[in-house]
Amino acid sequence: PTRHKVVISRNLGPDVMPLLTQRSDLEIVLWPENRVCDRKWLLENIAGATGVLVMLSEKIDAEFLDAAGPNIRVVSTMSVGYEHADLKELAKRGVRFGYTPDVLTDAVADLSWPNFTWSPFSFCGPQLSATSTHPSRTAGFIGFGRIAQATLARLVPFGFTHCLYTGNPSIAPDPAFDAEIAAKYNVREVRRVSLDELARESDVVFVLAPGGPSTYHIVDEKFLKGMKRTGVLVNTSRGTLVDSDALTKALREGWLWGAGLDVVEGEPNVTADHPLVKEPRCIVLPHIGSATTETRIGMATLAVNNLLGGVLG
Ligand code: NAD
Repeated sequence: PTRHKVVISRNLGPDVMPLLTQRSDLEIVLWPENRVCDRKWLLENIAGATGVLVMLSEKIDAEFLDAAGPNIRVVSTMSVGYEHADLKELAKRGVRFGYTPDVLTDAVADLSWPNFTWSPFSFCGPQLSATSTHPSRTAGFIGFGRIAQATLARLVPFGFTHCLYTGNPSIAPDPAFDAEIAAKYNVREVRRVSLDELARESDVVFVLAPGGPSTYHIVDEKFLKGMKRTGVLVNTSRGTLVDSDALTKALREGWLWGAGLDVVEGEPNVTADHPLVKEPRCIVLPHIGSATTETRIGMATLAVNNLLGGVLG
């Protein structure tokens, strides 16, 4: 029987690797080091592969597909984001593409909301739950998909009653969807608005739209200037959506209260001397939104199943 060559760009750990290594119908080629897979190594090793399992760090473009050659049937990424993959090129060549939605939604939503519960021992910020002087709170979402909705579910118990969001401009607003979400989460208002209104009305703005050119610097100087001075910005999607220089200036000059960032443009080259890391009203995490053991095993398992579906299907 034919053995299909599959290339894996990162070790998936002892819980998931056996799903691949125990199969007699696969020839597994694994990047041997515990760091980002080297591009040159990858291009050399994918020659003749039927399937490749990659991380966000691997660019999937024409050069990659040329290097793989005509056997390639599937590319499976262990991420919900897919801005590193040229989907048109994959489709043109009839190569299937798999990603890992849903399994990470709860972990990222858990991380998205505690970022702005400021410690009384360092500095005080606006209270998260409703108060008598401020009886309702408004959450704003740039991108209102799976993780955004799971984040809203976590905010409602804290007194958030209003939800504003912006959506993909190529998809028309749907008031029936807004009414359905309001009923589901028991909030007074769910409404799709312009970016200007979102900035102006939100107590906390969550950035949860996909990366890539269409959302580049969607949070720019104009957006930040439009925010409440007590407002907080939380970005757990991709660093490219927020203009870092503008955010640094905004925090220094007090256009908004603070920011919580799991992602920063330029990562992984964001070091301790980065202005946002040094900024006292900014919490920066090293892109760990989906880093719970359960979620990482779930992502790796789904990525393997997507790979096997393409290789064997
Ligand atoms: P999703 O596809 O369910 O939601 C994204 C939403 O953004 C969709 O509703 C889409 O219509 C909307 N959108 C697209 N273009 C837009 C635009 N220009 N303006 C406003 N909205 C737009 O995805 P999800 O599972 O909720 O994940 C959201 C993003 O979070 C991913 O794309 C990924 O980049 C990021 N993410 C980060 C981590 C992390 O570790 N921090 C983990 C998982 C996902």
